[in-house]
Amino acid sequence: MGKKPIDRFIRAWAVALYNADFNQVDISKELKISRCCVQNAIKKFKNHGHYNDTKRSGHPKKVTGYDIRYLKKLVHGNGRVSAGKITSELNISFPKPVSVVTVRRKMLRFKASVSKKTKARRLQRRQQREILNHLLGNYDTSESDDEINVGRNDYNQSPECESRTLSLNTTSCLPLHELMNYENDEFDNVHSFNDHLLDIDNGTPLFNGSLITVKKAVRQLCSFFTDFNINKRTAVHLLRIIKTLLPKPNRLPTSWKAIMKVLGHVSTSRTTFLCSSCFHRCEKGRYGSKLCQNERCSLKNRTMKTIDIVELVHLDIRSQIQAILVRNQLLLNRKDLYPMTDVCFGEYYQSQSSTTTNRITLIVHTDGAPLVKLSKQSIWSCFASLVELPPPARDYHKNTVILSLWTSKVKPDPDTFLHETIEELKLLINNGTSIFINGQEYEITLRTQYFVSDLPAKALFCKTMNFNGYSACSEYCSTGEWSAENNIVVYPFTRNNLTPRTHSAYLDAAKEAQKDQLRERP
Ligand SMILES: [Zn+2]
Ligand SMILES: [Zn+2]
Repeated sequence: MGKKPIDRFIRAWAVALYNADFNQVDISKELKISRCCVQNAIKKFKNHGHYNDTKRSGHPKKVTGYDIRYLKKLVHGNGRVSAGKITSELNISFPKPVSVVTVRRKMLRFKASVSKKTKARRLQRRQQREILNHLLGNYDTSESDDEINVGRNDYNQSPECESRTLSLNTTSCLPLHELMNYENDEFDNVHSFNDHLLDIDNGTPLFNGSLITVKKAVRQLCSFFTDFNINKRTAVHLLRIIKTLLPKPNRLPTSWKAIMKVLGHVSTSRTTFLCSSCFHRCEKGRYGSKLCQNERCSLKNRTMKTIDIVELVHLDIRSQIQAILVRNQLLLNRKDLYPMTDVCFGEYYQSQSSTTTNRITLIVHTDGAPLVKLSKQSIWSCFASLVELPPPARDYHKNTVILSLWTSKVKPDPDTFLHETIEELKLLINNGTSIFINGQEYEITLRTQYFVSDLPAKALFCKTMNFNGYSACSEYCSTGEWSAENNIVVYPFTRNNLTPRTHSAYLDAAKEAQKDQLRERP
């Protein structure tokens, strides 16, 4: 302490001169620094290979060891407690009082360590991507996890292009994707027909005598809306004003539906509004208000607030699968990318592989906790992953099929939540479907395998007892015992009843439960 460090450039000079066979005294005279400094600079360069200042011991630490851990706990426990509050809490237990500044500095450092973790995770993801790139032979898959529509756009722009056909490794055990020898005829509702309709629309001027077409105008406006993150309501309002400014008559669309039509987008989701107290579908009243018309409902014929409404969204499964496959076509049929422990090599999956057509197998998964939790509304979700994609690509956020979403203040009712999804899956499974990749049609056999969820979700979706109830085991008829001492239901090994549950017994139990419920509520 107390010594003034010399500049790193001077140190570098000193080392350079030393290497050019000057002696230390000459160097010290030349650079006007002490000989000791020259010696130190040379020593430092020899030991560390740089000319920078070495770390100094600094001010003795105010908060150390266990206290840091305690502080960390305080910070992590309630993320939004102010530094002042934490300081006063710390000073109760600390022998020497610390200042707010110290606490604030420590807190910042913890935050930095958290971001370090995020950085490490990001790096890991990038490495995974690079490995994939390498495997795929430098083909560009470097898009980030959030970009969703890359493949879909490609597909829309060049449906006729056949630049890349899928590799046709016919391995016995793996999903094989066979090309169908099939040419589109006039009965196929492939794009050409729609495009033709849109082309007419394309040419229509915004108003008579205008050089700008409706489509161009709408596209320009929409890109402005997305660039400046303008919400739907404001956008529609703005469109209405613009419409009044334009010469009449004009063809500027002012509703969201009409805009989608002009741009040629087909909505791939259906939204239903339900009453949150009886789960009946809401009727639309005047001015977009929603009414429950169920005779026995407590909210009957009242204008419902947003928090009384359940917003249930079903997304189109086929188009999502198509988009995912188009995007990941280079990963299909690659036996080498699957780990030996994967579902693909499992007994059940193998036993189902007798069919000759292309297979798509969905793993349906959900979570008992809501995806997004707000004070007034939460979002629950039901997702599916494709077995035919190798991990880790299978679990990428963008490669997940979203089956349905439930936005409400109340927990989803599984019957209502999954009804439409199940019907659509059944339809796809029974009738099969086909998807288009690079303008080629592939026939698809769809199946589902597994329903993955945590225990609360399992209880919710299967309508069974939760894990902490009596008779909670879904495999065997064991019943639990109440342990008063631990305040919990326990299942002692010695008294296990290992009679397997059967489907009919399951249904009987359900009926009994229903009867009990009716008796309770006369
Ligand atoms: Zn109702
Ligand atoms: Zn069990």
